Amino acid sequence: MLWIKNPLGIFTANDLDAGNGLVVSDDGTIVELVPSGAEPSMPCSVFDASSYVVLPGLINTHHHFYQTLTRAWGPVANAPLFPWLQNLYPVWARLTPRSLELAVQVALAELLLSGCTTAADHHYLFPDGMEDAIDIEVSAVRSMGMRATLTRGSMTLGEDDGGLPPRTTVQSPEAILADSERLIRKYHETGPGAVVQIALAPCSPFSVTKEIMAESAAMAERFDVRLHTHLAETIDEEDFCQSMFGLRTVDYLESVGWLGSRTWLGHGIHFNDEEIARLGAAGTAVAHCPTSNMRLASGTARVLELEAAGVPVGLGVDGSASNDASNMILEARQALYLQRLRYGASVPVSRALGWATRGSAAVLGRSDIGQLAPGMQADLALFKPDELRFSGSHDPVAALLLCGADRADRVMVGGSWRVVDGAIPGLDVAGLIAEHSAAARKLVAG
Ligand SMILES: [Zn+2]
Repeated sequence: MLWIKNPLGIFTANDLDAGNGLVVSDDGTIVELVPSGAEPSMPCSVFDASSYVVLPGLINTHHHFYQTLTRAWGPVANAPLFPWLQNLYPVWARLTPRSLELAVQVALAELLLSGCTTAADHHYLFPDGMEDAIDIEVSAVRSMGMRATLTRGSMTLGEDDGGLPPRTTVQSPEAILADSERLIRKYHETGPGAVVQIALAPCSPFSVTKEIMAESAAMAERFDVRLHTHLAETIDEEDFCQSMFGLRTVDYLESVGWLGSRTWLGHGIHFNDEEIARLGAAGTAVAHCPTSNMRLASGTARVLELEAAGVPVGLGVDGSASNDASNMILEARQALYLQRLRYGASVPVSRALGWATRGSAAVLGRSDIGQLAPGMQADLALFKPDELRFSGSHDPVAALLLCGADRADRVMVGGSWRVVDGAIPGLDVAGLIAEHSAAARKLVAG
């Protein structure tokens, strides 16, 4: 038993009092919250948390790890979504197993150091030679000691058929479905403490056919896995849906059997009132990606209205070519400020922290992570507000977002410390940066 004792500040993502910390069992779960002024009910070893702010491990619900190879790439630095994609697809088509492995390691390390313990990734590029892309991701997640929902993405609608991606990046429905089934059978874990989960993720309305959407939904139902896609990200996408399918985005979603609680959507910006009500009634979830939405000038998601309608909302950093960071604590700050622009300054800091933790857990369909309570996994992010930027701050929890914390000092996943003193034990960061940067230059050079 380990007592995380007397934290400087603590955010439980619920109404429980953990003013004097919490107790982690040897099996990696939280067994007790210790209220202010109280002591644990059992003998424990002690971790002195008096200089730390403790949060549930942050949860990222939308990302494309491979895009760390094309960050801040000049030709698309100032472009909106469609031309941004059209310029990047041919570069991404040159992805290799080794460059993906390095990209995933970089994204995971960056996320972990920002306090993130569980990440979703949406990988939809399977050019020749990349058949093992998800397998590569699984082994990187396991060796980093994090949790992940890895989605088997897909693209079937090439340029020749009226879609956006080039022919070389799309696959046949047969190949996609066979690989999806293989991955679910091989890797998908269920129940509390799951490390790797698999979900199915046709990429977006403008890159897949309705058939693969419907067939993916049927397979997800059969194996009880989740469904993920991009939806209502831009007005261009809405116009595409109207002209290609004669439907608005939510009607399109319903027409392919996706309007349900198994589905979470990347972005979810351009919904009208009636569509928000339908999404809420269905329990369809949204991954809010504020930085990407500002970077590409896509629009502002109506997060408070979505939540009021019953839509679970979490946060995503989105791909690293449209953020271009993979930093979850900074993403919570961005979400707070973007939503304040829409709804006013009364949007509380705790609400943004809630999206990054409990909200994101709900988005991924998990009830074992995202808050501090007895029985939950011991996934913790500890921040040490001792840098210049925190000097003079008063509320330690609020200071994380308001003063711009960007790095956790300690991170625990399932009871094991995965970040110690602001570093990942055993990871050669300088070596990783050197190899990853070289792979990124090579990918762009062609
Ligand atoms: Zn995305």
